[in-house]
Order: sequence, then structure tokens, then C-alpha cells
Amino acid sequence: MHKGRTNAVPGDGNPNTYVVFVGEAPGYDEDKRGKPFVGKSGKLLNKLIEDILGLKREDVFITNVVRCRPPQNRTPDKKEIEACSHYLFEELDVIRPKLVVALGAPAAKVLLDKDEKISELRGNFYTRSDFTVFVTFHPAFVIRNPAYMEVLQEILKR
Ligand code: URA
Repeated sequence: MHKGRTNAVPGDGNPNTYVVFVGEAPGYDEDKRGKPFVGKSGKLLNKLIEDILGLKREDVFITNVVRCRPPQNRTPDKKEIEACSHYLFEELDVIRPKLVVALGAPAAKVLLDKDEKISELRGNFYTRSDFTVFVTFHPAFVIRNPAYMEVLQEILKR
């Protein structure tokens, strides 16, 4: 995917944080600016971080499973994720967060090394040796399906 990118998009935020949010892949705005979650999904994520967690975006670290924007914003495939996810794990090794919030299925699958349905993982905490993973909706899903906004807010309160 690097062939089609404008910028690679590494994680961004406070490396001394206790909580890291992991999305799927950069979109149009992220590719242009080289920063994760700066478009529509990012606006919603920032608002949720402020309103529900009482934190600012600058307090946390935000990253993705892959670093390059997939063509037509499609979901990255298994090979692409395998080729790229070591960057995510290197970020987590440096930051050593207590909690990692998986935003959507690709992040949940990579962090938990499980191929279960997102509906079965969502809303649950999973203890790994190095950190705890919490699985929730991707903000883009809730933008497309506003009926899930309340559920997302309830899940995040946990
Ligand atoms: N969606 C993602 O998963 N990541 C981004 O950085 C932006 C939108």
C-alpha cells in the first residue's frame, strides 16, 4: 500500500500515557496530513475521549493497525496487516500502556490474535501479559450507523 500513499501515518500523542487507542488504517485526511484520526472519525474520537474519559487527545496515544491508506479505504487484508502490524507492537513496547482500546474488528483481531466476530468481542476486557485490551466500535461505524452512538457511549463508560 506504500506505493499509493502520500504519507505514512505513525501513531501520535503522549508516549507517557496509560491508554492507547488503535484504529484500522489511515483514511483520506490522515494520508494527506501524516497523522492518525484527523478526519471525521477523529473528530468523534476526540469528543468521546473528552466527554466520556475526561481526557484530552494530547493525553493519550492514537495509532492504527497499518500505516498506509488502503486503496478506496478498503479494510487492509491479512497479508498487509502481517506486513505492518509490527510497527503497532513496537509502539506498544515503548509506551507500555495499561489499557489498549481496539476500535473495530481489525484492531481487535490483531491485538487479541483471535478471529472471532467483533460482536462477540465488543464491550469486553481481555487481559494480556503486557496490557489489557478493551474492544469497542470503530467511530466510522457509528458515523455510518448513528443508532449505535448511545451503545458506544455506554461501552466506553466502562
Ligand atoms: N480511521 C482509522 O481507523 N484510522 C485513522 O487514522 C482514521 C480513520
